[in-house]
Parts: sequence; C-alpha cells; structure tokens
Amino acid sequence: MSASSVSDLPSYLNPHDPGPWAIYLQQVDRVAPYLGSLAPLVGILKRPKRILVVDVPIRLDDGTMAHFEGYRVQHSLSRGPGKGGVRFHQDVTLSEVMALSAWMSIKSAAVNLPFGGAKGGIRFDPHQYSQAEIERITRRYTSEIHDIIGPHKDIPAPDVNTNAQIMAWMMDTYSMNEGGTNTGVVTGKPVSLGGSLGRIQATGRGVYVIACEAARESGIEIKGARIAIQGFGNVGGTAARLFHDAGAHVVAIYDHTGIVHAERGLNIPALLDHVQKTGGVAGAAGTETLSAQEFWSLPTDILIPAALEGQITEHNADLIHTRILVEGANGPTTPEADDIISAKGTVIVPDVVANAGGVTVSYFEWVQDFSSFFWTEQEINHRLEAMMRAAYAAMSSVARQHGVSLRTAAFIVACTRILEAHHVRGLYP
Ligand code: NAD
Repeated sequence: MSASSVSDLPSYLNPHDPGPWAIYLQQVDRVAPYLGSLAPLVGILKRPKRILVVDVPIRLDDGTMAHFEGYRVQHSLSRGPGKGGVRFHQDVTLSEVMALSAWMSIKSAAVNLPFGGAKGGIRFDPHQYSQAEIERITRRYTSEIHDIIGPHKDIPAPDVNTNAQIMAWMMDTYSMNEGGTNTGVVTGKPVSLGGSLGRIQATGRGVYVIACEAARESGIEIKGARIAIQGFGNVGGTAARLFHDAGAHVVAIYDHTGIVHAERGLNIPALLDHVQKTGGVAGAAGTETLSAQEFWSLPTDILIPAALEGQITEHNADLIHTRILVEGANGPTTPEADDIISAKGTVIVPDVVANAGGVTVSYFEWVQDFSSFFWTEQEINHRLEAMMRAAYAAMSSVARQHGVSLRTAAFIVACTRILEAHHVRGLYP
C-alpha cells in the first residue's frame, strides 16, 4: 500500500491484513491527480459514511438459538440514497463489504444514477440452513438495519446467494415495521411485487450495448465479429444471444462444464436449449472442445469474461489476442493482467461501466415503484440502452482528454461526480 493509503486505514481494520478496502484506497489514490480543484476533497471517498454491524439472533429449526454477524455499509450518500446488494456468505468480512459499497458508489456515479453506494452482508453459509431458517435470518437482519434503510435512504438488492424471494421477505419485514407497504425499499423483487420487467436480462444487455459502443470506436463491425465468452449464465447467455441475433460469430463459450467452439460461429439458441436440458455447454452437438489455454489464445475481436472474478491473471494474459475485452463479471482481470493486455493495445472496458446494466434497471424499478406505474419491457430496454451509451461516451471522452485507460477514466468520471455533489451540498454543519 502507498504511504497515504496506510494513513487512511481506519482503526477497525487490521493494518497487516486490511483486505479489499486497501485495494479500493489504492484506486482512489491513482485518480486523485486528475480531480483538479476537487482533489482536496478526496478524503471523503476514503471513509465510508456509515457502518452498521448487527447481531442477528434466530431460533433454529431444532429449537436452539444461533447468532450471525450482519453488516450494512453506506459508503456515500452524496448523490442520492445508498444502493447495493446483500450477500449471504460464510467468508463475508467488514473490509469486503466496505470495498463493495465503495465500488457501488463508483458504479452508480459512472452511469450517472442518482444513487450513492452501499452494501450489506451476513456471515453464514445459506446452504447449511433450511428455507425457514434463512427467512428468519433475513427478517431479523432487515429489522436490525431498519433505521438506516428505506426508499429515500438506502435500497438493498440481491447479490451472492440472495434472490427475489429474499428481497420479498426484506420488503415485507420493512413494510410491517413501517405499518404500510413500501415496495421501493429493495430492488430485484418478483415482478408480482413491484419488480421490473427486463431486470433479469439487464446486465447482459448492458454488456452487449457497451461492447457495441467500444467496437464502433475501434472500427469493428458487429456483424461478422469474432466473439468469445466465459460464462453462459444470466450475463454471458443474454449477451451471447444478442450478439448472435446481430450477426456476430460467437466462436467459443466457456462454462463450468467445459468449453465449446465452432470456427464459423456457435448456434447460440441451440446451445441455450442444450444448457437448459443438461445444465452446461459440454457435449453440445456440432461443437468441438477446447482446453482453457486454447480458449484464452483464440484470436477474437471481442472477449467477454462473464463468469467469476480473477479469471485473467499474469498466467494467461500473455495468451490473449483480442481487440476489445469487455468485463461482464466483477473484477475478472487482475491489475497485473490488465497491464500486460493493455500493453498489446487491447481496449479494456471496465466492469464498473460494462456490467452496470443491472443496477440501471434496478434504478428503473425504484422509479416505477415510486410512481406505481410500470413500463413495458421495450421502454425499459430503450432507456437502458440510452443510459449505457451515455456512460460509455462520458468515460471514453475523459480517457481521450487525459490519455488514460477506460478504467482510470471511469473512476475519474465517478469520483468527480461524487465530489461535485459533495462540494455543492457543502460540509454540514
Ligand atoms: P450465473 O450464475 O447466471 O452464471 C455464471 C456462469 O459462469 C455460468 O455459465 C457458469 O457455468 C459459469 N462458471 C461458473 N464457474 C465457472 C468456472 N470455474 N469456469 C468457467 N465458467 C464458470 O451468474 P451471472 O449472474 O451471469 O453473473 C456472472 C458474473 O457477472 C459474476 O461475476 C457476477 O458478479 C457479475 N455480475 C452479475 C450481475 C447480474 O445482474 N447478474 C450484475 C453485475 C455483475
């Protein structure tokens, strides 16, 4: 860590193992020189506005009692209410939730949503508990964080191991405590409860729109472009279908069951059917199998990691020969790999913009809940595309202006917007 980042570490994190929050602090230090007259305010980005740690006691199905540790961190509320998911995982730490909340501030601001950044988590493995126990954990956690969440304060959403059902329980618990129905307190709800059409496909659609913008800037025609995608779930599967419909050749798909390849382009609708029936891409008719090394070495126009974090490292970055890398997953490229790939002239479109389609449609869900008037899927897709294109244009223009990467540019755009809001609001009292 740099000296300034160390001095910014809060006393409640272990200085010898500060976790992901330290990575975020380094990212802020890197953009500070580009913030002009706002640079003296950068300290506000280096501290979460509010951290709540709660005990979540519940009665287990066998009648005994258990305690779980829950968190809700609000990194910034300068531009609007907090926004960010709730993660159920046994390895969740405060440092991780802090960093994820800060990255939500960056993502919301990079796409110009009127939100701050927040994140929540409970340290437990939901696979070890019954649905009834998970419901009690969710409801007690929601009650414990009740005072700091709300449609105007902080709006949770699904994340790792949480889903529309968990959001419905959170919304119901919040509403019961308020004495009225408040659908806008969470997003990612079932459509029957004020959820938005198009939310499920939103991230993949956003990835597709952003990839088209990057391709246009690089002079690449989508029709006939060679594309490889790691991950064929919600994000990768949706993006693959849209590329296929636009006449691109999706030449390889890599999922947890294997890698399939077809030199002249895979039949994506047939592959989606195959995955529906068998659970993965392995063994799909009319495809050949590749090794991981062969997948990463494929010459492509666009490569999209849309599976897990940390997939492109210094160990495989050298193999990669693509013109544009679009980060569908969160954090798929390590900083070392980023340097190696960028040095080859590949354009890397960072996750904070590339996969922001989901949070953008969450914003639409919140807006629709306020007005109790729901849009058609066509309207949602149209507005999503306009916001994603605007986000790409803002990032790309700052990259050109300062001669920096799109990743640094996205952070400059986001930090500038947050600090501008903070500046004009002024320091209370
Ligand atoms: P998903 O569970 O629907 O799909 C995950 C895909 O990754 C599957 O095809 C799976 O087979 C594949 N996969 C899993 N392990 C793999 C491995 N070891 N090697 C290769 N492939 C593997 O998940 P998703 O919603 O599509 O999310 C994908 C990524 O996008 C995650 O990093 C997620 O955090 C990120 N993301 C998702 C959203 C969203 O709205 N869904 C929003 C922002 C970011």
